[in-house]
Amino acid sequence: MSYLLHLYCPECGRVFDAERVQTYCHDCASPLLARYDLPRLRAEVSRAAVSARPRGMWRWHAVLPVRDDEHHLTLGEGDTPLLPVPRLAAALGLERVFVKDESFNPTGSFKARGMAAAVARAQELGVTALVVPTAGNAGGALAAYAARAGLPAHVFMPADAPAANVQEARLYGAEVQLVIGLISDAGRLAARAAAEHGWFDVSTFKEPYRVEGKKIMGYELAEAFGWTLPEVIVYPAGGGTGLVGMWQAFAELEALGWLERNARPRLVAVQAAGCAPIVRAWEAGAERAQFYEGAQTLAAGLRVPGPFADRLILRALRDSGGRAVAVSDAEIMAAQQDLARLEGIFAAPEGAATVAALRQLAAQGWLRPGERVVAFNTGTGLKYLDLLPGGAQATQ
Ligand SMILES: *Cc1c(COP(=O)(O)O)cnc(C)c1O
Ligand SMILES: [Zn+2]
Repeated sequence: MSYLLHLYCPECGRVFDAERVQTYCHDCASPLLARYDLPRLRAEVSRAAVSARPRGMWRWHAVLPVRDDEHHLTLGEGDTPLLPVPRLAAALGLERVFVKDESFNPTGSFKARGMAAAVARAQELGVTALVVPTAGNAGGALAAYAARAGLPAHVFMPADAPAANVQEARLYGAEVQLVIGLISDAGRLAARAAAEHGWFDVSTFKEPYRVEGKKIMGYELAEAFGWTLPEVIVYPAGGGTGLVGMWQAFAELEALGWLERNARPRLVAVQAAGCAPIVRAWEAGAERAQFYEGAQTLAAGLRVPGPFADRLILRALRDSGGRAVAVSDAEIMAAQQDLARLEGIFAAPEGAATVAALRQLAAQGWLRPGERVVAFNTGTGLKYLDLLPGGAQATQ
């Protein structure tokens, strides 16, 4: 059962009815966030009861938006491993580094979490067709969960997205349109097609529930660390869904009284040097990010030049005492090798970017040896073979 109360705009505070299909606050051009009846949940459900349920994202259904269990859509998302990486830590002069390995999710990335929640709730509210603009993995994940739900899906993707993303989305039966340009260009086309055909647009933060699915990563971390939170989270931020979601989760965990002590992690947003709108805004001390012209990086999921949730991302970084860090594609590829050779983890370039950032942060003394640091590997490296040296594109 869901304890969802309503949606609200974090900028103007207006409340939106959660029993209808909603998008975002058009007055503020802001994402909507969900509010749950946490006092009642606190009184009725214990954290131990949640821990005792069968594994997977939906065991947290009380803090997810789907009303009826029959509408839960699952392909086995969630409960990904939290792997200690001692050899990598030692190489960086650190002690307690962990990788939350999201590559175990269906479709090989954490986009599965968000799409499971968004597609399930959309279907529960009567949506009959879905569309998404994507840098790559969101298209595959939408296509898979739409297939699972028996709904048609339409995907707008840059023509130079990883080939695996195009192929998987088509295999799952989605209609894929390749766009010459960036995810921002795909976004405009998707919005137009949505208006024209009555499809529901599940663009990052333009519907309210992908962030709810991703939020569960924060709950899983709390549980894995014995209902405490690590000191630092290093996260590859494109649209920022996971960062914003986990920051919400930490507030909910505090309100639920499920934490042993209310100490939140410092959040680090890692971006590619070739597309770093959040890092630029952070360094300028700005509340909003400017569109990043000429965005380029092999970390496709980080090629998001104009994140819609810029204010929420920057606020979470600031409120947490964290920061934003840019890493070059060369550093990303070196980090990908380090993680593979030292720990046996074949990370997506986006995930490898967090390891590159760890190197910078450790060298600067910003990370202290005893701190528990969690780096997110958000997807599997196997989907990017065509972009790597020796991959299909390189040998053509
Ligand atoms: C989409 C994506 C990201 C960025 O995720 P956000 O939560 O939207 O910032 C990072 N890594 C991978 C592999 C992705 O597919
Ligand atoms: Zn508003």
